[in-house]
Amino acid sequence: MIVLGVESSCDETGLALYDTERGLLAHALHSQIAMHQEYGGVVPELASRDHIRRALPLLTEVLSKANLNKQAIDAIAYTQGPGLAGALLVGASVACGLGMALDKPVLGVHHLEGHLLSPLLASQPPEFPFIALLVSGGHTQLMRVDGVGRYQLLGETLDDAAGEAFDKSAKLLGLSYPGGPAISRMAEFGDPAAYQFPRPMLHSKDLNFSFSGLKTAVLTVVKNHPANICEQDKANIARGFVDAIVAVLTAKCTTAMKESGLKRLVIAGGVGANLQLRVSLNAAAAKKRFLVYYPELEFCTDNGAMIAFAGAMRLKNNPDLATRDYGFNVRPRWPLQELVAA
Ligand code: ATP
Ligand code: MG
Ligand code: FE
Repeated sequence: MIVLGVESSCDETGLALYDTERGLLAHALHSQIAMHQEYGGVVPELASRDHIRRALPLLTEVLSKANLNKQAIDAIAYTQGPGLAGALLVGASVACGLGMALDKPVLGVHHLEGHLLSPLLASQPPEFPFIALLVSGGHTQLMRVDGVGRYQLLGETLDDAAGEAFDKSAKLLGLSYPGGPAISRMAEFGDPAAYQFPRPMLHSKDLNFSFSGLKTAVLTVVKNHPANICEQDKANIARGFVDAIVAVLTAKCTTAMKESGLKRLVIAGGVGANLQLRVSLNAAAAKKRFLVYYPELEFCTDNGAMIAFAGAMRLKNNPDLATRDYGFNVRPRWPLQELVAA
């Protein structure tokens, strides 16, 4: 079965073709980062309009990469939520319009389920059950995953998401949106002893997180600096920030592994691309004897492949989930816990 995936929840338009027999056939992505950069963040109306412009050319691109025509598609999976309402509506209407025109069934997919299952697209995928750390721009959650749709929330952030903390702290240092990768690169040149930032909730005895205080600590240091803060000092602050956030994420994952007794840890979401986090988690995994799995770098942030894959996994277990009822709705807010097992 060949599933077309359509992702448009935020500022990336992603399309992909996944075959349950042959795996990922093709994927294509357009990121709107450059367009939103001058505003310092995503402008929802601009995002929706750009998704409209990009969706069909990307469809042509994936079909030609896979050397298939539209009729080869068996079902269409689209991101139904959570995300920006207008942006979601574009993907949903493209998917449902296409479904109606081609007489193919459609299926709404949960964006976070896409992220969560994205490590399974790797060449050496983990088996269920595993512990998952979902660290993205909007979410920071630790989950126990027993199968597709079988997610138990173990802990989550009480305020900012990890990606949000990266972006906000980067902005305070004058780095452009989204600052996660930039602050991470800058941290490589920083002195780890220069700034000791708080490690929020490190000893909270639960698996929750809090990152807004860390961002405030960065703000306080930046404010105490003369206007022309030098590059080395910025790098030192970046290093202090990255070390603090990585220490907390690593510690909570290690605790979740110990408490669950499971041997596989899976990382998903944009912050999963962070190299300092990967180094730290790999070291913890070697020491505590568990295995850690990451998505391919290109599938950490939003993409169509993870949506095609999540849709395919659900349809594999229950083909009736896809419908020829093309009246769609989107769910800008949609807790992952509301999903039922596949
Ligand atoms: P959600 O999936 O929760 O709705 P989102 O789709 O915006 O949010 P993702 O696309 O998964 O989130 O990830 C984007 C986030 O990942 C941004 O906050 C970005 O700064 C962060 N990020 C990407 N690469 C890195 C990196 N190398 N280091 C740190 N953060 C990174
Ligand atoms: Mg994005
Ligand atoms: Fe995302």
